[in-house]
Amino acid sequence: MRLIGILNRAIIKVKSIRNRLDEVQTIEDALKLLKTSKKILVITGAGISTSLGIPDFRSSQGFYNQLQHLGLSDPQEVFDLQLFLTDPSLFYSIAYMILPPEEIYSPLHSFIKLLQSRGKLLRNYTQNIDNLESYAGISSSKLIQCHGSFATATCITCKYQIKGEVIFDKIRNKEIPYCPKCTKTRNQLLRDDEEVYIAESFGVFKPDITFFGEPLPKTFHDMINEDLHECDLLISIGTSLKVAPVADIVDKVPPEVPQILINKDPIDHCNFDISLLGYCDDVASYLANELGEGWDLPHEKFNEIRGLDPEGSNLEISLTDEDRREYEIVNLITREKEDLEAAAIAAEIAVNSNDDEDDEDEEGEKQGIDDGDEQDIKPAVEIIDLDVES
Ligand SMILES: [Zn+2]
Repeated sequence: MRLIGILNRAIIKVKSIRNRLDEVQTIEDALKLLKTSKKILVITGAGISTSLGIPDFRSSQGFYNQLQHLGLSDPQEVFDLQLFLTDPSLFYSIAYMILPPEEIYSPLHSFIKLLQSRGKLLRNYTQNIDNLESYAGISSSKLIQCHGSFATATCITCKYQIKGEVIFDKIRNKEIPYCPKCTKTRNQLLRDDEEVYIAESFGVFKPDITFFGEPLPKTFHDMINEDLHECDLLISIGTSLKVAPVADIVDKVPPEVPQILINKDPIDHCNFDISLLGYCDDVASYLANELGEGWDLPHEKFNEIRGLDPEGSNLEISLTDEDRREYEIVNLITREKEDLEAAAIAAEIAVNSNDDEDDEDEEGEKQGIDDGDEQDIKPAVEIIDLDVES
């Protein structure tokens, strides 16, 4: 089993890339599609929750990079099923870091809720395990939590399932949550034979998030094939599309179905018809503002983000790459703040570098050479396959 998990992680897939559609090119086309589409398939990832302070997994400030102190050869091992079964304490020593907050959601979550309210949402396939979609009001029939979630937890031994919240306090205290049913069995076994071997994970609850070495939830496989052929628009939001099988969805929808990307950064290994680049909440607010009456985001921050004097005045769009049909949506208020912060950091660096000018010069030269080299290297896209069945 462990070997299969490792092999799955190492799979590098050569992807066949679809051609962009001629009839879907501009932001006006994107707005028209949102108005006319009736069965929108939405794929979401960590980028839709980062504005709430929830760390993503793979960025430089993400969760995996915060695990360096554990000394693992691969930080993803904290989600390795075999390792959990051998010793669940490793997972529970860090699980508090990814425990989702309750009852909050981002303007982008509200955008998906809006699609649902307008009868346009076919399904939201989320890779997030934070369960915030449900707090935003996205109904369980419209939501596939592809990598599971903290909403429920299951006993490793007797499969007794409980509401996830029941073990949140234990997780916050870095304690291992034990199943009450199995605790009785364990005590009985120990009474009968003090020397009996009982595995560390005996009767331990595991949140129902998908670990490496586990299949994706059954609902994913039940729904995806039908949805692929029913959808009339695909929108991928806040995900770098590097974890299969969710990443493969963009390649599997029929080629004539339009595809829109909403993400902080462009994605080079897919051909979206239109890419709307920027903070997800800004892009969602921009779209809602442009779509006009009946499209207000059901979120308290909507007006603050778009600006009301006049409506939408905070948000600016520009075409940044005509060939790749990439637009950038900028929040002028946020940019001003970021510029001020960057200037303050630059001033601090300048003060520090004056203290030790010789060293800085040497370092700067080295840096210059490194940067030049890096520009020529184009990394292959590595798709990690999470699903043991695919
Ligand atoms: Zn149990």
